[in-house]
Amino acid sequence: MKQGSEDFDVIVVGGGHAGAEACLAADRIGAKTLLITHRFDRIGEMSCNPAIGGLGKGHLVREIDALDGVMGRAADMAGTQFRLLNRSKGPAVQGPRAQCDRAVYRRCIQSMIGKSSACVTEAEVADLIIEKRSVRGVVLFDGTRLRSRSVVLTTGTFLRGVIHIGDRAHDGGRMGDSSATKLARRMEDIGFRLGRLKTGTPPRLDGRTINWSNIDSQPGDVEPVMLSFMSDAPALRQIDCGVTHTNAATHEIIRENLGKSAVYAGAISGGGPRYCPSIEDKIVRFANKTSHQIFLEREGIGDDTVYPNGISNSLPETVQLDALHTIRGLEEVAMIRPGYAIEYDYIDPRALDRCLMTKAIDGLYFAGQINGTTGYEEAAAQGLLAGLNAGLRSRESDPLILDRSDGYIGVLVDDLTNSGVTEPYRMFTSRTEYRIQHRIDNADQRLTERGRMIGCVGDARYEKFQTKMTRLHNARKRVNSLSISPTKAREFGINVRLDGVRRTAAQLLADRTVTFAKLGEVWPEIASIDSDVLDQIRIESLYSELLNRQQTEISRLKESGAAILPEDVDYLEMPGLSVEVREKLAVARPATIGQAARIEGLTPAAMTILLGLALKDSGRSSEPMAG
Ligand code: FAD
Repeated sequence: MKQGSEDFDVIVVGGGHAGAEACLAADRIGAKTLLITHRFDRIGEMSCNPAIGGLGKGHLVREIDALDGVMGRAADMAGTQFRLLNRSKGPAVQGPRAQCDRAVYRRCIQSMIGKSSACVTEAEVADLIIEKRSVRGVVLFDGTRLRSRSVVLTTGTFLRGVIHIGDRAHDGGRMGDSSATKLARRMEDIGFRLGRLKTGTPPRLDGRTINWSNIDSQPGDVEPVMLSFMSDAPALRQIDCGVTHTNAATHEIIRENLGKSAVYAGAISGGGPRYCPSIEDKIVRFANKTSHQIFLEREGIGDDTVYPNGISNSLPETVQLDALHTIRGLEEVAMIRPGYAIEYDYIDPRALDRCLMTKAIDGLYFAGQINGTTGYEEAAAQGLLAGLNAGLRSRESDPLILDRSDGYIGVLVDDLTNSGVTEPYRMFTSRTEYRIQHRIDNADQRLTERGRMIGCVGDARYEKFQTKMTRLHNARKRVNSLSISPTKAREFGINVRLDGVRRTAAQLLADRTVTFAKLGEVWPEIASIDSDVLDQIRIESLYSELLNRQQTEISRLKESGAAILPEDVDYLEMPGLSVEVREKLAVARPATIGQAARIEGLTPAAMTILLGLALKDSGRSSEPMAG
C-alpha cells in the first residue's frame, strides 16, 4: 500500500464505488491524490448484489467508461454472465448487465488504484479542516491532520449507519464494518441538512446446500455485450444463474412474522426504495400475487456463496431460514449470513452545485450514497464527476459541467441538486427527456472528446475512439451514397413500397427485417463493413427523424435553459413571488433557468421574473465551461 503524509490536491474519503472512481479520476488529470478509507481490502466492495449495469444503470456505466472511468472495465474483467436487458425493445432502452465475481471485481479496482499515482491510507476521517468557508483538509480519528485543496466525501451508508435484523439492531456501515458517527455529527454542526434513508440486502446462501437439480437455470447471452468500449470479450468462464420462486407457504410465514420485521415493526424511520422492495413489502403491497421470482446468482467462480436476488428482508434469522426452506430447491439450504436492513444518514443534495461541490464550503464535494442515491453505478458516476472537478479545481481550470442534454450523468446530477430526494434515488431510462439521444452505443461519441479536452481520457482509449469514428464516418458515407429503386429492391426480396422513390442503403437499414447479409447481396461492398459499425448506423437510421427533432429541442432549451441565475440573490426577499415559491428557490438555489423550470410548483409568472433576473445578470456573469 502506498502511504502519503504531505499536502495533497485532493483527498477522497471512502473506498466504495464513488470513492474509487473519484480517486482515479483526480489522479488521471494529474492531481496529487490521497484516498482514505477504513480498509484497503474492501475497496471496490459490492455491498449488495454481485452485478453491475442494468436498465438506466448500464447507460451510466457506459458514460463513466467514455470518460475513462474504471467501472465498466472492471465489470467486464469480473463478469461471469452478461445479459442485454430489454433486448426485444428499442436500442435506446436496452441496458447491458454483468453478473460479476465479487472478489475479482474488488481485485481489479484495487489493482487499478495500486497502479495509479494516488496514495492510500487506512483510517477513519472524523472531522474536516475548514478555514474561511473553504475546506483545507481532514482530521483522522487519532487526531492526525492532513491538508488538501479539496476533499471529496463518499462515505456511503456509513454515516450513523444502523443494521437491523428482526428486533436486533447494532451500529454498522454495512455488515462487518463500523459506522461513522463523529463525521455525521460534524456535518450537522457545519449546517448541512441530514435525512434518514434505508435499504436492505437478502441473506447469502451456501450453494452446496441448494438442490440445483430442482432449480431452473438461466444462461447469459450467446453474444455478450460488454460494458466498456475497451473490452472485446468476457475474461472469465461464463456461468448460468438459477431461477426459483416463493410460494403460498413462504408468504404465510412472512405474513405471520411481519411484526418481527425491522421494516414493519417500526424500528426504522428512514424511507426505503419503492422500486427495489423487500420481500415483506412485496407481500404486503402485492397481496394478490401468490409467487415472486428469485434469481440465484453465484457470487463468484469457485465461490459457493449464492445471492438470492429478490428476497431482501429484515426478519429475524430463524424466520428467514424457515421461509427459505419452503422454496423449491432451497428445502435444505444453509444460510451463510442473514439478510438485513440498514438505516443511515444522507445529506440533502440540494446543498451541492452542478460540479457536486457544496455551495456552503468551497472545495468540499459529496458523491455517492451520501447524496441519497442507491446503487453502485449512481455512486460511481457521481464519484467520477466530483473527482474530476476536485482535480480541475486544483489546477484552477474550469469545471466539467454535464447537463441533462449531455446524458444520464447530467440528468442524475441535475435531479439531485435541483429536486433533492425523498427516497433512495436510482436511475431509470424514464428519467431522461432525451432517451433517443442518450444511448449506450453513443456514450463515447457524446463524452470521450470532452474527456480528452480536460485530460481525463488516456491515449489508448482515445486512439480506439478515433479509429471507431473513422470507420463510422467512412461507412456512413458509403451507405448514404448507395441507392436502389423500389422495383430493384423487391427483386432482392426487400419489401418496400412501390412509390418510385429510391432508397439509400442507410434508409433500408432502418428496417430491422433487412439483414446485413441481404444488403451485402445488393451491394457487395457493404459486406466488408464490420457488423458493429453497421449496427450503429442502423440505430442512427432508425431514430434519424426523432433525433433531428430532439436536437432542435436541445438547442432551444439550451438557449433559454442555460441562462445563468446570479449566485448572490436573496430569494426570500424577492418581490413578485409567493412565499412558497420563494422558499423553494431559497432551498434549491437553481444555477440556471433550466434548473428553476424543473422545480415542482414554479409558475410561468415566477419563471418570467427569474428569466428577467438572469438576463439582467448576464452582463456580469458568464457560464462555466461545459466541459
Ligand atoms: P459505499 O460503497 O458504502 O462505500 C463507502 C466507503 O466509505 C467505504 O469504503 C467505507 O469504508 C468508507 N468510509 C465511510 N466513512 C468513512 C470515514 N469516516 N472515514 C474513512 N472512510 C469511510 N444498491 C443497489 O443498487 N441495489 C441494492 O439492492 C442495494 N442494496 C444495498 C444493501 C445494503 C445493505 C447496502 C449497505 C447497500 C446497498 N446498495 C444497493 C447500495 C450500494 O451498495 C451503494 O449504493 C453503493 O455501494 C454506494 O457506493 P458509495 O461509494 O457511495 O458508498
